[in-house]
Order: sequence, then C-alpha cells, then structure tokens
Amino acid sequence: VQQTFDNIDKTDPKIGAFLALNKEAALKKAAEIDAAGVDADNVLSGIPLAIKDNIVTKGLTTTAASKMLENFKPIYDATVVEKLAALGTVNVGKTNMDEFAMGGSTENSAFKITKNAWDQDRVPGGSSGGSAAAVASGQVIAALGSDTGGSIRQPAAFNGIVGMKPTYGRISRWGLIAFASSLDEIGPMTRTVKDNATLLSALAGHDGHDLTSSTQEVPDFAAELNDTTSVKGMKIGLPTEFLGEGVDEGVKAAILAAADKYRELGATVEEVSLPHNKYGVAAYYIIASSEASSNLQRFDGIRYGYRADDVTNLEDVYVKSRSEGFGDEVKRRIMLGTFSLSAGFYDAYFKKAAQVRTLIIDDFKAVLKDHDFIMGPVTPTTAFKIGDEISDPMTMYMNDILTIPVNLAGLPGLSLPAGQVAGLPVGMQLIGRPFDESTLYKAGYVFE
Ligand code: GLN
Repeated sequence: VQQTFDNIDKTDPKIGAFLALNKEAALKKAAEIDAAGVDADNVLSGIPLAIKDNIVTKGLTTTAASKMLENFKPIYDATVVEKLAALGTVNVGKTNMDEFAMGGSTENSAFKITKNAWDQDRVPGGSSGGSAAAVASGQVIAALGSDTGGSIRQPAAFNGIVGMKPTYGRISRWGLIAFASSLDEIGPMTRTVKDNATLLSALAGHDGHDLTSSTQEVPDFAAELNDTTSVKGMKIGLPTEFLGEGVDEGVKAAILAAADKYRELGATVEEVSLPHNKYGVAAYYIIASSEASSNLQRFDGIRYGYRADDVTNLEDVYVKSRSEGFGDEVKRRIMLGTFSLSAGFYDAYFKKAAQVRTLIIDDFKAVLKDHDFIMGPVTPTTAFKIGDEISDPMTMYMNDILTIPVNLAGLPGLSLPAGQVAGLPVGMQLIGRPFDESTLYKAGYVFE
C-alpha cells in the first residue's frame, strides 16, 4: 500500500486519475492486515484498489466530480465498498470522472482533466476515466467504475484494460450516486479478465438496500477460467451494424481478427442484425436525461452540498445553488429530461423512447436466443484528443453508439483489449444473455 502511494505520488501529476487519496486510513488498514497476517485463501486480502468518485465512502470526500458536492463527506459506505472492505481490500482513493457520470471523456469533471495512460494528449474516455487511467498506468490493479451508457467499457477500451458492465441488478447500487436508475450499474475495471472475474464474484449479490438487486446465484467466475477450450462449439453473433459506417477500419480489422481466433478455437461466428441499434443513442438521451432530471432534484442547496450565498428567498436558494453548483453538461441533461417528461411532450418523447427501448431489447433477445454471445467493437474509434469533442455534444454522444443499447437492454457487456491501431488500444465488446457473465469471461479469457 505504501508502494502504491509512492507510485501514485510519482505518476499522478502526469495522469491526474485521483480526486482524493485515502492515505491515512489505507495505511492503517494495511498495517492491521500485516499484523493479523494475510489470509492465504483470500486473494483480495490486502489488495489496494481505487473507487470512482460517485460511489459513497464513509468519511471520505465523495464529489461525483461536481462543485455541488465539493465538500461532501458521506455518512455511510456504499454496499460495494462495504463488501470489498470486508474482504480485506484497501481503498487508496477516489477517481476522477465526468460530473455525475455524464460524459465520455472525463473532461466534464469540475476539478481536473485526466489523461489517457497511453498518450497524455488524449482523453482517457469517460465517465470512469480516472479509474481506467489509474489501472492502465499501473497505479492500482483494479478500480470500480459505473456504467449507464458505456462509462466502464468505453474508458476501458481507450486505455487497453478490461471492464465489465454486469447485468442490470447483478451488483447493488446502494451508495452509487444515481444518474439514471434503470440503466446505472457498478462494475470492476482491471488489467486482466481473471482479476475482473474475481472482483465481480466479490461485488455481486442481493442487497436488501437495493430492491432491484438480483437474488440470482453468484458463481465463482474466476474458478471457471482454466483454459481456452470452453469456446469450442459456441455460436457467436457479429452484428452487421457494429461494423458499419463510422467504425474505423483499424478497429474493424482488430474485431475481425478476434472473430478468426474464435473460429480457430472451434466456435462459429456469423453475421447477425440488430436493426434498432441505430435508435439507441436517441432513446438513451431521452430516458437517461429524464431519470437524471428526477434523481438530481435532491441537490437543492438545502439537503446536500453546495449552497449559494446572497440569497433572498427559498426560490433563490434553489435557483442560485443549482445554477452555480452544476456544470453545463449536467444542466443540459436536466433541461432535456424535464422537457421530455413535461405534460405536453411526454407522449412524443419519453413514451416514444421507452417504446424504442423495447424494440432494442427484442432485437437482442432474438439474436441471443440462438447465439451464446454477441461480439463487436466497444467504440467506433480509438481515444480522441483532449479538447476535440467537448464542444460538440452530438459527436461526444455518438461515441457510445455501440455500448448504450446494452444498458437499455440490461445485458452484461465485457470490454477487453483487442490489439492496437496507430499505437492506441482497441476495445472489443462481448455482450451476453442476462446473468451470463460466465460465458463472457470464458470467451474473454481466450485473449488473456
Ligand atoms: N457517455 C454517456 C453519457 O454521457 C454514458 C455515461 C455513463 O455511462 N455514465 O451519458
């Protein structure tokens, strides 16, 4: 743990992955573990890891990268934080992100810019960009992220690491600062598939605090990863839409090479279609923003965080605190969301988006009925330059065209490295049936 902090002190001025370090408490815990003796049967005992700053940590500042929560010290731990702590991991700090997880480059943080671990002129992706950069740069071997529309998988892809967005409900969201509750999911970000599998088993399971958390049995995912023969005989779908217009040629080539590898190992890969995939981004920005506009009502200048000075009445407290506390992207979502939900526009926008969501779910169901999983790229391109897309929300939103449908359908999605284009990592995405993360890990392990 001491070495981890020494390394972070050396590397973080260049990477900017962390918003807060947990030095004192982490070293104290490490000393306790040393004194008690590391538990040889528990691979997580004494492992330093990092936590995205929208996951609450008792007594440790949790900001969601927003001025609104600049000095917010939670009074409880998120369920995932509690579970990891009980298994003996050591929380070294909180990682940077897009404000309230809204964004795809970590440039929407109110506090700092995080750099891609491979090329410091480029974004680390987002919104879990701090977690991805911390893992990819070797600061920690694992970090927690959250994924509402791609926020674990896209930064994992941009930094050449492994990221899992589990099935909706697999992991408790208690203590995750809510963005869009029907889409949000916490997940592990690691350097290897096996580490990722180990962490998912540790994080998953039912939680009485989150009624959407599932009672499905949680396998020992890592124990199932022993060789590459398990893909033999599997049927894999490669959607035409995932290799269509806008997808970089180098990214396509990397995915096709991975498909060949699966064929070599005895799987069949065939072209399939997800015809409504192209409406995913549009539906998502209505649904996610609507839910966000409701979830973010709690930041009213009274109950949590930032309160504006110089206010003359109650209305002023709300208006000024929210105007000054939220950044531009968050305000854009709140406006889009309240508009979509408003009486005159609900049918045309929110309801329509919900109907499109059902079509997207049905597309996946049809393909996954007779395919073990779906493969494709995580993003159309590799990591882009800092500053290149931030001024144009539509371009930024289109980054998630291949990840968003997976959240809309609540399915598990694994992002893992699949080669490079011009010295930058390409991410491959494996999408599975509900609660079948096992198959994704087995298929991902082929490339370990
Ligand atoms: N980039 C997407 C957005 O801005 C997804 C973010 C996320 O998954 N939290 O909404």
